[in-house]
Amino acid sequence: MSDWLEGKVVENIHWNDGLYTLKIDADISPFTAGQFASLALMIDGERVARPYSFLSAPHEKPLEFFFYTADKGVLSNALYALQPGDTILVKNPANGFFTLDEVPQSRDLWMIGTGTGIAPFLSILRTTQAWEKFKNLVLLQGVRTNADLQYQDMIQGLREEHGERFRFQGFVSREAVEGTIQGRIPAAIEDGSLEEAVGLELSPENSQVMLCGNPDMVKDAVDLLKARGLAKNLRRKPGQITTENYW
Ligand SMILES: Cc1cc2nc3c(=O)[nH]c(=O)nc-3n(C[C@H](O)[C@H](O)[C@H](O)COP(=O)(O)OP(=O)(O)OC[C@H]3O[C@@H](n4cnc5c(N)ncnc54)[C@H](O)[C@@H]3O)c2cc1C
Repeated sequence: MSDWLEGKVVENIHWNDGLYTLKIDADISPFTAGQFASLALMIDGERVARPYSFLSAPHEKPLEFFFYTADKGVLSNALYALQPGDTILVKNPANGFFTLDEVPQSRDLWMIGTGTGIAPFLSILRTTQAWEKFKNLVLLQGVRTNADLQYQDMIQGLREEHGERFRFQGFVSREAVEGTIQGRIPAAIEDGSLEEAVGLELSPENSQVMLCGNPDMVKDAVDLLKARGLAKNLRRKPGQITTENYW
């Protein structure tokens, strides 16, 4: 049985025009890193609900979510305007199969996210399960501008905690930013610059790949990974590629 709970906004951080984080107090049942919650507001007398991945780890409170305001998007623009103390509806329990329980054992885990699609990976990376299951963990964050490259403090904290086992590479498509690759992630898979920058090879033997966010990026990257011998990970036929499209 699922139920709508009344949560309270603790903080709404506007990173830039359109990119924001909500911290929410809500008494939800335990969830698994990588899952999403349906969040909703009453708009013109109707409950408008959409799924959002947890960015907070399962042991953390308040709950944290990372948003981008979709062009003319009904809910994402309404959530952007919320103030501390405002009510937000949270569906209990959480949902979704984009979790490490669904990903087969391997040496390396590659986590590829565009925009706010980095959220489930930041949750996963702060669980002990991730570090028990894989030797090397690679996080790729693809954004449009430097101002969209958020959560760098959390990423730096992972670097300090896990040393060489954790590798991060940022991609900025519309600007040249020091330390990042300029362009799209699929192009860097295709020309080999991704593996060169990260220092690991993508292979069916040693890699599991999770991809999340923009469906164009996910499709293009999956096609390239398939050409390299990796296969979609299905419950009935385990493979190396696990995906979550945001729209
Ligand atoms: C499993 C799952 C988890 C998700 N988690 C997140 C999350 O953590 N953070 C997040 O910001 N969104 C997330 N989304 C997308 C989110 O559910 C909504 O689709 C998004 O906020 C737009 O809702 P809206 O009512 O504002 O737009 P609508 O009025 O419903 O318009 C939808 C249109 O907006 C565009 N769009 C949708 N999502 C995005 C986006 N993220 N960036 C750019 N354009 C978009 C698409 O063109 C889509 O057709 C997730 C979606 C799924 C399926």
